Amino acid sequence: MTDPATNASFAEIAGALEGAQSILVASHLRPDGDALGSTTAFALWLRSQGRDVTAWNENGMPEKFGFLPENGLVGLPEAGRKFDALVALDTSVKNRLGTVLKAIEAPAIFINIDHHVSNERYGTLNYVDPASPATGQIVFEFLRDRGAEITPEIAGNLFAAISTDTGSFQYTNTTARTFEVAAELVKAGVNVGELSCAIYDTQPRRRFELLKLAVNSARFLCGGQVACFSLKRADVERLGLTPEDSEGVIDHLRAVDSVVAAVFFEEMEDGKTRVSARSKDLRVDICKVCQLFGGGGHPLAAGARMAGPIEVAEEKFLKAVCDEVGKCD
Ligand code: 5GP
Ligand code: MN
Repeated sequence: MTDPATNASFAEIAGALEGAQSILVASHLRPDGDALGSTTAFALWLRSQGRDVTAWNENGMPEKFGFLPENGLVGLPEAGRKFDALVALDTSVKNRLGTVLKAIEAPAIFINIDHHVSNERYGTLNYVDPASPATGQIVFEFLRDRGAEITPEIAGNLFAAISTDTGSFQYTNTTARTFEVAAELVKAGVNVGELSCAIYDTQPRRRFELLKLAVNSARFLCGGQVACFSLKRADVERLGLTPEDSEGVIDHLRAVDSVVAAVFFEEMEDGKTRVSARSKDLRVDICKVCQLFGGGGHPLAAGARMAGPIEVAEEKFLKAVCDEVGKCD
C-alpha cells in the first residue's frame, strides 16, 4: 500500500489493475450522473483492455440514466461474487458503496478515484483531486494518460458525468480545463444537444408534481438567506417518487436571490432523514455543516443522513446552517 495521504500515479493504478484478473467497478449509492457515467466509462475502458470487468451500483442503473451509452453494463450487486480488484469511483466514504463492499476482501487491490474534499482515502491506491469538478474529468485525464482511445460511448458517459456535476458547466468548480475536456469529448463523438436534452429536458411528470410541492411548502429563514423544503414519506408514496426524482429540486430554492444556503430534507423508509444541502457562497462551507452530522461532500454541495424524526433533524441542521451563515454577516 502506498501512503494513503499521497495520490498514486495513473501508471501505478493501471499497473495494479494489470495484476488483477477480475475487476469490479462501483460508485456511491443513490448514484448521480457523475457516479454512473464514470463507472460506465471506466468499465468500458477495462473491457477494451480485455479485462474481466463487472460494474455494480447499489441502486443499479436508474431509469433516469437509461440514455447513457452502454448503460446495461451497470447492474445490481450480486451476493457471493468475489473479485481481485475493486475500483471505487466518486465515493467519498467506503460505506457509501453499499453491499458492493462484500464482494472484496482485504488485502485486495482497492482503487479509490474521487473528487470529494471529504474523501477518506480508504483505498490501497488513492487518487483524490478536489480541484476536479467531476470524477468523470479525472477518468478522462487517466484515460488520456494511458493513451486510451476515447470511443463515442466513453465520451458520452464522461460528458454526462461532467455536465451533471458542474450544473451544466455553470458551477464555480468549472475551469478552463473542463471546457477543454468537454471539447475533446465532443470531438470524440458527443452530440451535445441530444445528450443535454436527455439529461435535462426529459423528466417524468411525477417530478414536476414534486416540484409543485416543493415550491408550495418552501420555508425561508435567517432573513431569507436560508431556504428549506421537506419531503415526507406520505408524499413520496402518493406521487410514486423514486430516489432520483428529488435530485435538482433544491436548485430552485438556491436560485432565489436572497438565498445563500438551501437545504432539502427527506424522510427515509428507515425513519432516518436524508439531508441534501447547497451553498452559493464559498464563505459558507456546507460540507463542514454536513460533517457535523456525519455527512460529507463538497464545500458548495454536500449531504448527510440524520437520525429521525424529521422535525428534530430539521431543527438541528437548520440551526447549524444559520450559525454558519451568520458568521459571514
Ligand atoms: P446530494 O445532495 O446531491 O445527494 O449530494 C451532494 C454531495 O454530497 C455529493 O457529492 C454526495 O456525494 C455528498 N453526500 C450526500 N449525502 C452524503 C452523505 O450522507 N454522506 C457523505 N459523506 N456525503 C454525502
Ligand atoms: Mn461527483
